[in-house]
Amino acid sequence: MITARAETVVVGSGPNGLIAAVMLARAGREVLLLEAAGRFGGGLRSGELTLPGRVHDLGATVMAMALASPAFRALDLKGVEFAHPPVAAAHPLDDRPAVLLHRDAARTAEGLGGDGRVWQATAGAAARAGFPLVELLLSPLGPWRAGPRTLARAAGFGAAAVLPATTFGRGALRTVEGRALLAGLAAHSMLDLRSPVSAGYGLVLGALAHLVGWPVVRGGSQVLADALVAELRSLGGEAVTGHRVERLDELDARTVVLDVTPRQFLAMADLPAGYRRGLRRYRYGPGVFKLDWALDGPVPWRDPEVARAGTVHLGGTLEEIALAEAEVAAGRHSPRPYVLVVQPYAADPTRGGHTLWAYCHVPNGSAADMTDAVEAQIERYAPGFRDRVLARHATGPAALEAVNPNLVGGDIGGGLNDLVQLVRRPVWSPAPWRTPLPGVFLCSSSTPPGPGVHGMGGWQAARLATQAERHAS
Ligand SMILES: Cc1cc2nc3c(=O)[nH]c(=O)nc-3n(C[C@H](O)[C@H](O)[C@H](O)COP(=O)(O)OP(=O)(O)OC[C@H]3O[C@@H](n4cnc5c(N)ncnc54)[C@H](O)[C@@H]3O)c2cc1C
Repeated sequence: MITARAETVVVGSGPNGLIAAVMLARAGREVLLLEAAGRFGGGLRSGELTLPGRVHDLGATVMAMALASPAFRALDLKGVEFAHPPVAAAHPLDDRPAVLLHRDAARTAEGLGGDGRVWQATAGAAARAGFPLVELLLSPLGPWRAGPRTLARAAGFGAAAVLPATTFGRGALRTVEGRALLAGLAAHSMLDLRSPVSAGYGLVLGALAHLVGWPVVRGGSQVLADALVAELRSLGGEAVTGHRVERLDELDARTVVLDVTPRQFLAMADLPAGYRRGLRRYRYGPGVFKLDWALDGPVPWRDPEVARAGTVHLGGTLEEIALAEAEVAAGRHSPRPYVLVVQPYAADPTRGGHTLWAYCHVPNGSAADMTDAVEAQIERYAPGFRDRVLARHATGPAALEAVNPNLVGGDIGGGLNDLVQLVRRPVWSPAPWRTPLPGVFLCSSSTPPGPGVHGMGGWQAARLATQAERHAS
C-alpha cells in the first residue's frame, strides 16, 4: 500500500535527515520529509521532561560539531542563536582543582602544567589548522578541498589520534590533569579507552573547543530542528510528523533518503544478499542511561570553576575512567561510572530554570537503573547535589529506543565507533551512503563520519542523490 508519494522522500528528521531534505530542496527537488515521532529533530528534540516550563534536550545539547560542520555553515538559519558557556568543559578531581577546557588553547595548556606543550602540539595544532582540517575529518571519504599542507597536518595529527587513549595518555602525558582531561574527552566515543582511535575522539573534541567552542542553542536544541524544518518549508518542501515508514514499498518516490540505522533498513526492504550480510555484520555500541533533573539552583560543585562549564566529565583519573569504560565494553555495569554531565544553564538562562542532564554508559539493551550510581558520582564532586533536585526523569536504553528507533539498545552513536566501523560504516564502500537499491540512500549516523550533530551524512547522501540525477538526465 502506498502511503506517501513525492519526487524525493526523506525518512527521519534527525540532523542528517533534515540537512539532506534542505539540500535536496535547495537543488530544486520536490521533497517530502516523514518523521515517525510527534516532533521533528531526532537527537535535536527538546521537551518538558520534569516540571512544566522546564526545557530539556532529549538528545544533543552541545553544538560544537554543528558550528564546525560544512553542512551547517553553508546555511544561514534564522532565529538560531548559539550561546557559549564561559568554560567549554570541566573535569573535577578529588584532591586538586578541576581541569578546565577553555576556548583558548593556550589557557587550557597553562592549566595542564607539564602537559601543556603536548596539548598545544596535538589538540591546539589541530585547532590552528582550522576548518580545512575539520572538513577533512568530517568528510573522511571526500570530496575535500584540502591542500597538501592540510593533508600533511592531518597525517601528523592522525599519528596521535589513531592510538588508544590509554596509550597516548600514559605515553605522551605526565600529569594527572592532562591524562584526566584526555580520558574524559575520549570517553565520549563510548569505546573501551584501550581501543585504537579513542585518543583521536578526545583530541578532536578538544580541538573543536578551541576552534568553535562548545555552545548550546539558546532556548533548546529543538530551536535548531525547527529552523531546519522552516528552511525546508520555505523552499517548498513538505514535512510531516507521526508518519512511521515500515517498508520502502509504501513510498512512491524517485529518490528516498533514509535517516535510519542498518537494523531498520534490513526490516524495510528486500536487499541483495551480499549487502544484507554486510549490514548484519554491523555492530551497535553500548547504550546510555540518561537522567534529566529540574533543580532549584545550580549544582553546588566543590570547585566553583566547574559551575562555569557547559559540560562536566566525572569519573576521576584516566585509570578510573578507563576501568569504568572497560567494564561496559565487557558487558558489565560500572559501580563508579564515567558520567557526562551537561549544564545548559551555564550558557543559556532561557530554559525555565536550572535544568541538568547526565548519562553513563551501560551494556547495550541494559535494563539496570543507574540513578544511584550517577547521582553518587555527582555528589562526589558536588556534596548536597541531591538536595537541589526538584524532579528527575530517567531514560534507560529501552525508553530511548521507544522515543527514537535509531537508538538501538540505547546506543546514541548509531553503531560502535571503533576503527573498523569508522570506515566500514555501515559497509565497506567509497560511497557508503549509496545502497544497492537504485535511488535509495542512507544518511544516518550509521554512515561516515558517524555520530554528532554535523549533518554530514545527510550532506553526502544529498550530494550523491543529486549527482545520480544529473547522470541520469
Ligand atoms: C542523550 C543524547 C545526547 C547527545 N548529546 C550530543 C551532543 O551534545 N552533541 C552532539 O553533537 N551529539 C550528541 N548526541 C548525538 C546526536 O544526537 C546524534 O548523533 C544525531 O542526532 C544523529 O543524527 P541522525 O540524523 O543520524 O539521527 P537521529 O537524530 O537519531 O534521528 C533519526 C530520526 O529518524 C526518525 N525515524 C527513524 N526511523 C523512522 C521511520 N521508519 N519512519 C520515520 N521516521 C523514522 C526518528 O524518529 C528520528 O527522529 C546525543 C545523543 C543522545 C541520544
